Amino acid sequence: MKVPFVDLKTQYLQHKEEFDQAIEKVLDSMHFIKGSEVKEFEQAFAHLSGLPHCIAVGNGTDAIYIALKSLDIGPEDEVITVANTWISTGETICQTGATPRFIDIEPDYYNIDPTKIEEKITTRTKAIIAVHLYGQPAALKEIKAICEKHNLFLIEDCAQAHLATYQGKPIGSFGDIATFSFFPSKNIGAFGDAGAILTQNSLLEEKMRRFASHGALKKHDHKFPGINSRMDTLQAAILLVKLRYAKQWREQRRWAAERYYTMLADLPNITLPKAREESEHVYHLFVIRTNERTLLQEHLKEQGIATGIHYPMPLPFLEAFNDQNNLPTDLPVAHLYKDQIVSLPIYPEITEEAIAYVCEKISSFFLQESSLMEEQRSYQDK
Ligand SMILES: *Cc1c(COP(=O)(O)O)cnc(C)c1O
Repeated sequence: MKVPFVDLKTQYLQHKEEFDQAIEKVLDSMHFIKGSEVKEFEQAFAHLSGLPHCIAVGNGTDAIYIALKSLDIGPEDEVITVANTWISTGETICQTGATPRFIDIEPDYYNIDPTKIEEKITTRTKAIIAVHLYGQPAALKEIKAICEKHNLFLIEDCAQAHLATYQGKPIGSFGDIATFSFFPSKNIGAFGDAGAILTQNSLLEEKMRRFASHGALKKHDHKFPGINSRMDTLQAAILLVKLRYAKQWREQRRWAAERYYTMLADLPNITLPKAREESEHVYHLFVIRTNERTLLQEHLKEQGIATGIHYPMPLPFLEAFNDQNNLPTDLPVAHLYKDQIVSLPIYPEITEEAIAYVCEKISSFFLQESSLMEEQRSYQDK
């Protein structure tokens, strides 16, 4: 049996006619930029996510950059974010000229540790970017309280957490701005690059909409220099099809996670991910921890099972941020976990059999490992 890490083809084939029709309609219209599907997508995604304003942009990285620029963040400023995330979260802070300050992760939930934020706040700090990593909402209540106390903007990087909720409210509704990615393998994925920004603030909405499109809301109405980052009409048409099934796929991911929790429950050698109370995790990734990651990954690969690491190196230890001189002792949890985390296959279409197969191979690996260790011990005893 083969279990891929993600399976984009099955989802396409299940709804092929709808996708093909949507694509053909755009080809017929030739409205490749700012076609009617883009507006329709913005309305549908805002509605589904429970926020009033949506701006469809080129990708999830631009979404963060546009958010930061629209909050007037620049060279004199510092922005606080989390050590373990995809590069975009840190990189976009640098693109504005500001300095990223990285915070360690929570030992249980792997998101920004709110107890370690305040010690990094200075007079230059302007904003916090909280990331809902792996599909799990960050500690929004605590983070929001810190933002209010210190008068900081809050951006929620929701690239991995479409349709997750926290205390019964949609993620993205806690901060000033929420950013999303529709990279093909995200929980809602386009057939190429695409992103979106949600906000409840209509002034920010207009500013961001302008910034994403050369500073203009209509032709030749350039109020300030912006960038060119718009969602293609084709991607909007494809995503409109996907939005019809997004809630169903969310439930399928949550079901798959439940199966993993049940089938891996009795294994002593691994730590299963912990879901925060009062929140709905949407399992973009199912990340376990083990001290024998490399051997486990090799064993699973031999059995036809693909796994991943998200991420092999926390941002503060990447060459890209070398100038910051971050030490392992500054971010001990992120530093420790980077060699233990491993992501198991998860996608809405994954079958019960596939999950059972993965879990059986994980169990057999640890059985084999412990009997090897037994053997070594009895050999040494002699
Ligand atoms: C994917 C991702 C992004 C960036 O999205 P792109 O659409 O690939 O630019 C940003 N932040 C996080 C946490 C992501 O996972």
